Amino acid sequence: MKYAEQATQYLKLFSNCFVTKGVIRSIIVDGYRGGFEFIPNDLGDLLQEAEQYTIGELYTQYGEENYPAIDEYIDYLLEKELVFMVSAAEKSCFPALSMEWRFPGKIANAILDVGAAQSYDLPAVLQQLDELQCLALQVRLFAPQSLEWLENLLKACSSLTFESINLFLPYDSLLDEERLLYLALAHQKIASIVVHGAPETRRIRHEAIDKLAGLFYIETPIVDESHCGVTLPEYFSANLLHYTESLAANTCLNHKIAVDRFGNIKNCPSMIESYGHANEVSLKAALAAEGFKTKWSIKKEQIDVCQVCEFRHICTDCRGYLAEPANVYSKPAKCSYDPYVGVWN
Ligand code: SF4
Ligand code: SF4
Repeated sequence: MKYAEQATQYLKLFSNCFVTKGVIRSIIVDGYRGGFEFIPNDLGDLLQEAEQYTIGELYTQYGEENYPAIDEYIDYLLEKELVFMVSAAEKSCFPALSMEWRFPGKIANAILDVGAAQSYDLPAVLQQLDELQCLALQVRLFAPQSLEWLENLLKACSSLTFESINLFLPYDSLLDEERLLYLALAHQKIASIVVHGAPETRRIRHEAIDKLAGLFYIETPIVDESHCGVTLPEYFSANLLHYTESLAANTCLNHKIAVDRFGNIKNCPSMIESYGHANEVSLKAALAAEGFKTKWSIKKEQIDVCQVCEFRHICTDCRGYLAEPANVYSKPAKCSYDPYVGVWN
């Protein structure tokens, strides 16, 4: 009983850390520092009990045969800086964080797809997104455009509400490393540039840019919207905003609007439902149309399989590609993780 001297104290998880229990294991999400740690479900249960019982009471409850395991668990949690110890008098000084998720704007993020033919008035759509207070913009080019076109797009965005811009550009010999670095330095709203269909897959590293944006070449060509929706651990978002949004809404479609490569306004470019052509209907009108927001509120707790997965609050929920297309609550089709065995297939 290594922590006998702290028997009257409580073990307290930092309020920015959250346990998500899965079938065979749990994770602790560190909402402020980002990232997560795997823990056994037993430790998740112990942390829940620790909210109510002192360390001494935990030792008593679990019995002498479990003292070494409790010591090991506490060692681990302290070493990872996930918990601290407080007296009964201090306990109320550390209230739980509010888990409420609120967003003041009408649209949080948008995807604009652009094919070989310009099928809609892109500058007009950008202006409308500004009026809707859109913060994050993703532009996916499926066919090459001139550098002048790209510069004009970025200049137009510089005075609009976007805080971050993610670009998907087809490979073009003019988009060499130097040009990408220049673009990212000149337009600091750029959060990432992915050049697809490139001769090799690699990340461009440069001290001037590494903290500002991610620049990548990938070999896979992205020719249409069907490349979206893949679930992989590298796409997890272990942070407070994503975590709280996942408790309240869908982590991909909530407050999202998109224009597909044909100019159709949708919640997501991969969805069938269209709310009119962007040259004929305003984004605001599409947003107000019946059905547009239907999928915004679908949470992971409602999704088959995901509802028992330990990653459900850090994983983006794709509703565009479903394991059972006729069942809107079925698992994302492009996730190979099986939470019942803890294996990515
Ligand atoms: S719902 Fe799926 S396909 Fe649609 S934008 Fe999100 S991840 Fe992509
Ligand atoms: S099973 Fe669901 S929650 Fe788990 S990783 Fe896959 S998509 Fe995400």
